[in-house]
Amino acid sequence: MAWLLISALFLGGCTDEQPPEPAAESAQQAAPVASEPLSPLPTDAPQSPVPPAAEVLLTEPGVPAVELLPVVIPEMPAPAAFAQPSLRVPVLSIIIDDIGQSRVAGERVIALPGRVALAIMPFTPNAQLLARLAAEAGNPVMLHLPMESMASLSMGEGGLDTQMGRSVFDARLQASLNAFSPIQGVNNHMGSKLTADRERMDWLMAQLAARQLFFVDSRTTKDTQAAFAAQALNVDSVSRDVFLDNERSTAGLEQEFKRALALARKQGSAVLIGHPYPESLSFLERRLPELEEREGVRLVSVQALLTRPH
Ligand SMILES: [Zn+2]
Repeated sequence: MAWLLISALFLGGCTDEQPPEPAAESAQQAAPVASEPLSPLPTDAPQSPVPPAAEVLLTEPGVPAVELLPVVIPEMPAPAAFAQPSLRVPVLSIIIDDIGQSRVAGERVIALPGRVALAIMPFTPNAQLLARLAAEAGNPVMLHLPMESMASLSMGEGGLDTQMGRSVFDARLQASLNAFSPIQGVNNHMGSKLTADRERMDWLMAQLAARQLFFVDSRTTKDTQAAFAAQALNVDSVSRDVFLDNERSTAGLEQEFKRALALARKQGSAVLIGHPYPESLSFLERRLPELEEREGVRLVSVQALLTRPH
């Protein structure tokens, strides 16, 4: 007697595009690899075509389904995943990089709904304070580790480069890992050159494994070896899918946010990385509180998306 209307996966546009090379390394200019599309890592979900937006009508025999059509409401928020508890809800994890200079910006990230991760630069004035506040609030705390870029951009204190021998590399890495606490994981700041250096990625992962830290590959180059090294050295890891704010206009933020949501629906999960720009924080403050209800995508901590090596 009851009909069940299951609707609808609101798929955003451009789900098949690969993410553009992030300008996040540099607000001023793109790295030389900027025009190269990123190819998916082996761990990525299969790039199957996006299924058609689901609009499933279940009716009892003899009841003409056509009578249901006027019930379809354009703003209908409930995705199939809500109507069917057995179906998995798409999930999104958010990391905000470059934290540590501004206490106010860091506190705005902590105040966002969900467990948004703070990726904190070592040796910044508010690193320790924000790490403690974030940990107390239940937000994941990560070290945002400066690494050499193809464009040789300034890395700031603690930067790691491809010229370093192992003893210098290890000492500098340990200094950054000890710069504040707690640290649960690490991701790369810039690094389009260093993350392509498999030998040094192995050195990095050996230390992360020893400290039982996870790694998020920011994927600033398609040639990154970080995820392979993490697998080889038994480090839990995941890779960035979308950068939120290479373009900081409202339209630009909305476009990339929608792309992350579409990927989450397509793959089951997605990792979105943003930066503590006022525009980005205002955008997330507006969009995150209604995320699950309106978009059918659940915010989860980055640890929930880690792939564990076997
Ligand atoms: Zn960064």
